[in-house]
Amino acid sequence: MDVLKITPRGYCHGVVEAIRAAKQTAKARPGEKIRMLGYLVHNVHVTDELQQNGIQLIDRDNRLEGLDQIDGGTVIFTAHGVSPAVKQRAQERGLNMVDATCSDVVVTHDLVKDLVERGYDVVYIGRRGHPEPEGVVGEAPGRVHLVQDPQDVDDLKLTNDKIAVTCQTTLSIWDTAAMIKRVRERYPKAEAYNEICRATQDRQEAAVEAAKECDLVIVVGSERSSNSKRLVQVVQELAHKPAYLVDTVADIKPEWLDGKARVGVTSGASTPTQLTRQVIEYLEAL
Ligand code: SF4
Repeated sequence: MDVLKITPRGYCHGVVEAIRAAKQTAKARPGEKIRMLGYLVHNVHVTDELQQNGIQLIDRDNRLEGLDQIDGGTVIFTAHGVSPAVKQRAQERGLNMVDATCSDVVVTHDLVKDLVERGYDVVYIGRRGHPEPEGVVGEAPGRVHLVQDPQDVDDLKLTNDKIAVTCQTTLSIWDTAAMIKRVRERYPKAEAYNEICRATQDRQEAAVEAAKECDLVIVVGSERSSNSKRLVQVVQELAHKPAYLVDTVADIKPEWLDGKARVGVTSGASTPTQLTRQVIEYLEAL
């Protein structure tokens, strides 16, 4: 099997920094209870390793309820960011806070806060149930409106003259452009701020380009990972090639490779390098 290793792939700066912050916290505070409020980054292997470092996972959909489970010690906020309400609750509970929010997500929080302070209603394109939109919408509930699909845009009932549209950092570049266009069709004066991060853009563009020269693409990443799932999506929709998400080499199904000569391999921004290496070695050995 001819294997095309797509670059860039794997860890982005936000993931590297979040893991470093968590590990440093565990090292600096031996004996203290340290919890991460959700998956630090959306990869189960990374989370398992952190738990082996003594950082306990508090995995609740509602992070305020997750905080209520914590009885002192340190809480680490994940790379996806948290709402002001979560920070306030942590403070009220007397917890030490370590904020591992990616700097790119912080930029979006700051942007949304600034827009709302200047009188805008913000249409925010993102995925329901993902922690990043929950954190951003929480900056100004009632003034930040989460939309996931075109129907949500059609259902908006905004009367404010000042409207802005922005987005989650890890969406499909192409889907988001279409959603922004739709918002501006409904609200022609809406100001657009595309917040898809550089790491996501670069990985998607590289995957789509490389896929054109491959029979299929395998994306190494977790089901929870938004940017990994978007890599599969953009290859399928833009390059019109089969694409599959695998957590590890064990998930590869031999029938995917029947009659195929060239496979592209990429990985999400939170996927450990060794998992991708194992997939590449397996494919190269075929
Ligand atoms: Fe930050 Fe983008 Fe990486 Fe998410 S994918 S952690 S927003 S750099």
